[in-house]
Amino acid sequence: MASVAIGDVYKSFGTVEVLHGVSVNINDGEFVTLVGPSGCGKSTLLRMIAGLEKISRGQIAIGERVVNNVAPKERDVAMVFQNYALYPHMTVAENMAFSLMLKGVSKAESDAGVQRAAEILGLLPLLTRYPRQLSGGQRQRVAMGRAIVRDPQVFLFDEPLSNLDAKLRVQMRAEIKELHQRLKTTTVYVTHDQIEAMTMADKIVVMHDGIVEQIGPPLELYDKPNNLFVASFIGSPA
Ligand code: ADP
Ligand code: MG
Repeated sequence: MASVAIGDVYKSFGTVEVLHGVSVNINDGEFVTLVGPSGCGKSTLLRMIAGLEKISRGQIAIGERVVNNVAPKERDVAMVFQNYALYPHMTVAENMAFSLMLKGVSKAESDAGVQRAAEILGLLPLLTRYPRQLSGGQRQRVAMGRAIVRDPQVFLFDEPLSNLDAKLRVQMRAEIKELHQRLKTTTVYVTHDQIEAMTMADKIVVMHDGIVEQIGPPLELYDKPNNLFVASFIGSPA
């Protein structure tokens, strides 16, 4: 586990600035949701924490370490995307073991890690299947399994449930929360769904057009919104 400190971060693509000085402090073990309308910069910020996008100005620290110039694989974060991004030609077990193999972990250690993650996520009966033989929910669980086996300091989720139907989404929300209670890994969870953001978070970050409008626990945002945008965004149905 580690804290994540985002300090006055700017991001431009070419001449277009899309993040205009974002600061967020995430405590060790905290579950933070990043919420806001489509295009407000949530994915860009998450990708900067992961190291997939360069920081134009400002800094990001994971634990004590400023990571602006640290390569993604040196950051000890694991990201889960909405489109699963599983390798179709690999089994569930191979998908989960792949990143460990890249890290040079021994076969025995990797097998043990995969078993442990599969047990936590109820994937033990599916380890020899291929992604095409899985349901959407099962695939999403494998994507989470791939993140868990690496035992990262920080989990980054980018709208992981948006491809699932409503019923499964509610179930997976609960599973992700349970997982967090069990592992206590610092988590940054991006969603455009305010219900998801409100029910899952220790702390919510409300973004709008590349800035942070408000940061606080769900009830505080609900009771004392800083402005009309937060009030209408948090208060309106998903
Ligand atoms: P969100 O995840 O909140 O929907 P994004 O972070 O994906 O928003 O995008 C924020 C803004 O940055 C949008 O205006 C988007 O078009 C722009 N953007 C994102 N990625 C790129 C890119 N690689 N090149 C140019 N513009 C981009
Ligand atoms: Mg996005």
